[in-house]
Amino acid sequence: MVKSNCRPSAGGIFRKKVMQVDAWKILRFDTLDSTNTEAKRRAREGDVARTLIIARQQTAGRGRMDRKWVSPMDAGLWMTQLFAPENVRARDASGAVFISAAALSQALRELTGAEVMVKWPNDLVLGGKKICGMLAECGFDGDMCAWIALGSGLNLREDALPPELKFASSIQRQTGRLLTPEEILAAYLPAFDALEHIWEAEGLGPVIERIRPMSATLGREVRVNGEPARALDMDWDGALICEFADGVRRVLAGDVSVRGITDYV
Ligand code: ADP
Repeated sequence: MVKSNCRPSAGGIFRKKVMQVDAWKILRFDTLDSTNTEAKRRAREGDVARTLIIARQQTAGRGRMDRKWVSPMDAGLWMTQLFAPENVRARDASGAVFISAAALSQALRELTGAEVMVKWPNDLVLGGKKICGMLAECGFDGDMCAWIALGSGLNLREDALPPELKFASSIQRQTGRLLTPEEILAAYLPAFDALEHIWEAEGLGPVIERIRPMSATLGREVRVNGEPARALDMDWDGALICEFADGVRRVLAGDVSVRGITDYV
């Protein structure tokens, strides 16, 4: 993979880069084990062309740490974006979930007018309930990120979600609107492309700034893997800065569960 060390600045070069972005090749499946697993199969065969994989249902949808993601037939937008980011270091690859969180919450706000919020680091919430989860899995080329499989599971319909998921809800339940995958993608993909290029050119900081006013976590009392804390801020790299009983620490995305004290948010 050819990588450039040149970091284009905002302005003219940035605009030119946005216009040059490849369109997403969209692959649709009726049933997949998991759209992320399908993307990883392709990446491991060397095909990292910019591809959006959508399944009407997943039989083995996954959250972080192999937790199950419930994805019934036509109940949601179950998708993975496979792409090879420019100029992103391996250690920064997990920042991709913030790109999709910012872009998808923005798109859903435009489409519904609802106050979709981002629960750090990888969930979208509406009315205090989880409507979407995201999972980034990456391949590395030395210390650079070679590819990212960025999965998003967005609940569109309420009726197909099992009642035991008591924190889960859907766009339809919360807004009364049954959005189609096509109208969501039409709003989401341009927003994603623009933020991806800001990330590649300037790092994650500007993306974090977009999320800050939509954060459902900042300023809240939370439990970090069960330990009570106050979520003070998000760092430039997406880390959550928390005040624990024994002091202030940075919490990294990926390996922790953050919950509200009594509720999901
Ligand atoms: P976390 O909520 O800690 O961020 P994950 O992002 O790994 O966890 O998501 C997996 C969890 O999400 C599952 O353990 C389950 O509780 C919940 N879940 C599974 N499927 C759905 C769904 N369709 N909608 C909302 N929540 C779901």
